[in-house]
Amino acid sequence: MPANLIEGKNIEKTYYVDSVETTVLRGVDLSIAPKSLIAIVGASGAGKSTLVHVLSSLDPPTGGRVFFEGKDLYARSDKALARFRNETIGFVFQFHHLMPEFTALENAMMPLLIRGEGKSSASKKVLELLGRLGLEDRADHRPTELSGGEQQRVAVARALITSPRLLFADEPTGNLDVENGEKLIDLFLELHREREMALVLVTHNPAIAGKFSVKIRMENGRIVP
Ligand code: ADP
Repeated sequence: MPANLIEGKNIEKTYYVDSVETTVLRGVDLSIAPKSLIAIVGASGAGKSTLVHVLSSLDPPTGGRVFFEGKDLYARSDKALARFRNETIGFVFQFHHLMPEFTALENAMMPLLIRGEGKSSASKKVLELLGRLGLEDRADHRPTELSGGEQQRVAVARALITSPRLLFADEPTGNLDVENGEKLIDLFLELHREREMALVLVTHNPAIAGKFSVKIRMENGRIVP
């Protein structure tokens, strides 16, 4: 078994928009070992989100390679990549991307239904997790009937419900007040310990980054010491 879950080697990413070329990642090497705790910090525009997208199977690099357990991640078909995401990875973004026509419960159980799990077992698991997130009495609410912080916690439940081995969180506390932000990070760290889940988190908050064993700083598309 390879030592790393994900390994990015010499990753480059250039976007081409209306014949304008923007190079965002300039040769990044980053390995994510199982059970690791990595905070990515750096100024806005440094390339943090882009790096997370490339490492997490959402966006292929334009140079370099990404390996998952030693095999080229982007050599997989789109279908295999979608299954990889469902089985292995959880994502939490600054904006929740919940589906407005579904309730909190339905949104959070979607990844389990996609996996083929029965509705009653899926809903039991989601209700337990929503309880842990302080949302037990919000399960039947649609996103528009929830506060911003509550919506974010539903998105967190959706990301964690599959017990991913690796969670990517991109500024997950960006839209939360301080208290809810701290609670969310504490929950992530608890699950990291309980489930041995690796956690890669982008943050502007030095207090949050300080709780992580590995801190990576990005500047202008590169990792700097
Ligand atoms: P950070 O997360 O550190 O704030 P990002 O990775 O979001 O940085 O963005 C880095 C740079 O890449 C920014 O200048 C941004 O405008 C540019 N960028 C990001 N996504 C795209 C895209 N899809 N097309 C063109 N440029 C992009």
